[in-house]
Amino acid sequence: MLAIHAVPAFRDNYIWILARGGNAAAVDPGDARPVEAFLAQRGLKLTAMLATHHHADHVGGVAALASHWRCPTFGPAREVAESLDTRLREKDRFEVPGIGVRLETVDIPGHTAGHIALTGDGMLFCGDTLFACGCGRLFEGTPAQMVDSLAKLARLPGVTRVYCGHEYTVANIRFAQAVEPGNRALDARKERDTAKQLRGEPTLPSTIAEEIATNPFLRCNEPAVIAAAEKHAGRKLEAPVEVFAEIRQWKNNF
Ligand SMILES: [Zn+2]
Repeated sequence: MLAIHAVPAFRDNYIWILARGGNAAAVDPGDARPVEAFLAQRGLKLTAMLATHHHADHVGGVAALASHWRCPTFGPAREVAESLDTRLREKDRFEVPGIGVRLETVDIPGHTAGHIALTGDGMLFCGDTLFACGCGRLFEGTPAQMVDSLAKLARLPGVTRVYCGHEYTVANIRFAQAVEPGNRALDARKERDTAKQLRGEPTLPSTIAEEIATNPFLRCNEPAVIAAAEKHAGRKLEAPVEVFAEIRQWKNNF
């Protein structure tokens, strides 16, 4: 049976481990040490690594883990990262070595220029693009690119489990409530995820359906979100991409 484990790294990163039988695949292994500790503790062998984008907190452990385990590594075709041997492009499909899960690549530029997501078997690994109740900062892309990327992810089945790269959920919910104070689904989410955080549990994965109901960055067509963005901007906003850009800016300074 396939199991997905969250291995905490740095301050708030998650390295996701897919495990089946005695094998494991690591998604976004930014640091080799917690992965090695996890594998040793469970008696697992690393058979693959997958990376969503080039930031060091997502790929910093790849070289050390690859030299120990000699396993295949997969990552974005459009970003430079050493020691990634298979470069993935939009719609590329592959089977995760040793794990037997088939994943498909989705190009989702915005946070970085070549950021990819991997989806399959009811799961989505989306790095720093879609967060629980939030989205990544625009380091290398435009608001229009990010809006398109998020829309692609939002078209996945609602039950798809969303595994993101950081534990930002409770802070993100606080911002979402500032944008949309009347959204009751946010109140329920805050209560549940705050309780999880207090118990020291990951708030992830969430689901696409839950993100569509509560994530302001996926709700730029909602009248309440448009009204809040316009109030913050002090002017009329003409398109969803302008609404997105305004709330992204607002969140940066929140
Ligand atoms: Zn990043």
